[in-house]
Amino acid sequence: MSDSSLRLVWVYPDLLSTYGDQGNALVVERRARQRRLNVSRVDVRSDQPIPTSGDIYLIGGGEDRPQRLAAERLRRDGGLNRAVANGAIVFSVCAGYQILGHEFVNDLGRPEQGLGLLDVVSVRGDGERCVGDVLADIDPRLGLPPLTGFENHQGITHVGPNARPLATLRTGKGNGTGDGTEGAYNDTVFGTYMHGPVMARNPQIADLLLKLALDVNALPPVDDQWYEALRTERIAAAGQPA
Ligand code: GLN
Repeated sequence: MSDSSLRLVWVYPDLLSTYGDQGNALVVERRARQRRLNVSRVDVRSDQPIPTSGDIYLIGGGEDRPQRLAAERLRRDGGLNRAVANGAIVFSVCAGYQILGHEFVNDLGRPEQGLGLLDVVSVRGDGERCVGDVLADIDPRLGLPPLTGFENHQGITHVGPNARPLATLRTGKGNGTGDGTEGAYNDTVFGTYMHGPVMARNPQIADLLLKLALDVNALPPVDDQWYEALRTERIAAAGQPA
């Protein structure tokens, strides 16, 4: 962490925040406050520079055109890459996930350069859009309960050797390549196709980001009753017993 307070950065809410992805910032912030951590949150619009001193950066999903604009601005700005070089943690959803990779196909049907922060490449799927509730088992190395979320994307994502799939699908399309994977991560950069918002459905992921930022193995427990009720409902919706 850069100093005694935890700095949370919500990247480009004006371009990337579909399906209530902004809820991810609310949940991370709230769970930090519940642990009496000194947390500040900065929402950075796409006409503003990305601060490089953040501890946790969150990026949401978006439609194809805003996704291209966001990628152009993030490349030009360079701040997110500098922050990751300094050890910052990034958690991204859908369009944000594709932008963090090496390349994706933009709204003009052309390959668009990403930020290269995650070893993934996204292409346009030629089948139906991937839409619906998803249930997946998160990589056991991360020690988290099953991942629940909602997906809606045309892009499909190939995970390279320098990243690991975030989860293995029970239901849904996830990365969409047919290899049964969903999302990707490396040491500090995470990507998923899950909306929901994903932190509200999987608050343990918010806690994982906080633990990584604080460099601690555990956090004081908080009341997860509300989250558990939502998880049970959505896991049932994905066609699996809770
Ligand atoms: N535009 C991207 C796709 O369809 C991402 C969509 C999203 O973020 N929901 O693949």
